[in-house]
Amino acid sequence: MRKDYNSIVVGCGFAGAVVARELAERGEEKVLILEKRNHIAGNCYDVCDKDGVLIHKYGPHIFHTNIERVYQYLSRFTEWYDYSHEVVANVNGQMIPVPFNLNTLGMVYDKEMAESLEKKLIETFGEGSRVPILKLMEQEDEDLKAVAEYVYQHIFLRYTMKQWGQKPEEISPEVTGRVPVLLSRDNRYFQDTYQGMPLHGYTPLVQEMLSHPNIDIVLGADAKDYLKLENGDIYFQEELFKGKVIYTGPLDEFFNCCYGRLPYRSLRFEFEHLPVDSYQEKAVVNYTVSEDYTRITEFKKMTGQEIKGATTIMKEYPIPYTDSEKEIPYYAIINDENLKLYQRYLELVKEYPGFILAGRLADYKYYNIDAIVDRALTLADKLILDK
Ligand code: FAD
Ligand code: UDP
Repeated sequence: MRKDYNSIVVGCGFAGAVVARELAERGEEKVLILEKRNHIAGNCYDVCDKDGVLIHKYGPHIFHTNIERVYQYLSRFTEWYDYSHEVVANVNGQMIPVPFNLNTLGMVYDKEMAESLEKKLIETFGEGSRVPILKLMEQEDEDLKAVAEYVYQHIFLRYTMKQWGQKPEEISPEVTGRVPVLLSRDNRYFQDTYQGMPLHGYTPLVQEMLSHPNIDIVLGADAKDYLKLENGDIYFQEELFKGKVIYTGPLDEFFNCCYGRLPYRSLRFEFEHLPVDSYQEKAVVNYTVSEDYTRITEFKKMTGQEIKGATTIMKEYPIPYTDSEKEIPYYAIINDENLKLYQRYLELVKEYPGFILAGRLADYKYYNIDAIVDRALTLADKLILDK
């Protein structure tokens, strides 16, 4: 392998791909990407299955953002399929819109009651507001308490127990706050200005981003076999490396989990290939009061692919994370204790200014795609400016 790279990027998800492209193009650097898996695009990887259905191997990914520069940046590498994501919850067979909104209210209460509750909700919080379930539960008013209790019991409790193994009030409020009660009739899951799917998929988008003469990629390459940190210096294939390493993998792993494993929640995906045109009414149906899986995704409904007589669905089962060889670390479990452990690993990195962290794993954060693209662009700006 060549040794004259200016920068080495570990991981080829959105974090790694954006930084690599920017350093290669704007920074005019020779960049090497090391990716452990045998494909690019990280957890956003998509691929056609045996029936030609474009599936997301690591969970359904819908792009949405209010960040203009992120949308403009990604639009350099893809056109978009105009898709607004809608989700329904299967509550004892009744399909109701999630986030819980004024349409949902009208479906679960009789007309008179729904109208009076709507009036009270709007008087209290304002039309169009987004009210986190935990905030709604703090209300003194008996009617508002009753709505909160309904939403808590029918949308949040069981789903959150499955997803996290904990009750909504036991996890970081930011997590349930992602799906607030919405005081409008907008049935979309996201209210962002820009939303959609890359027209040909995420993998072609990332492929396009990486197609630059200054970028080399090695797949099936675990960074730990190539890079070593020792006494303030970075070594690449046993030789002193003076460039930068941008590391987007799990921080604990790089240090052999010397302080213990950073806690994550993992997932098991079950794919089913069905000989029908359509399986369910929306791309995603959440199972909020029953089943062991949290949701079923039907991919064709998200991508707009037209395939007759075949569809692919995926059931999502949350599972504990015990070991990176056995499970994939999907969701950082954000709490004070875990953040303290993360801080201890950060202390180890301080000695190596050329070893730079970015990404949902390296930052131990719950990032959406747009947030990680924004983070990677900002980091690249700084690295190029500092040269
Ligand atoms: P990743 O995509 O995880 O990339 C990290 C890469 O590093 C991986 O390819 C990994 O193999 C590689 N790596 C790790 N260790 C090493 C090593 N030692 N050596 C070499 N390579 C290594 N966001 C949205 O905006 N919309 C959604 O609908 C959405 N849905 C989601 C659904 C699920 C189930 C999950 C878990 C997340 C979802 N997200 C969604 C978030 C989105 O997946 C992330 O924001 C995004 O993938 C983060 O990119 P990343 O590059 O930081 O991490
Ligand atoms: N949630 C829930 N019921 C739902 C949807 C979401 O209880 O029908 C809670 C659950 O705790 C979940 C969190 O809200 O982890 C955030 O949901 P989101 O859809 O943003 O999760 P992601 O898409 O990241 O898996």
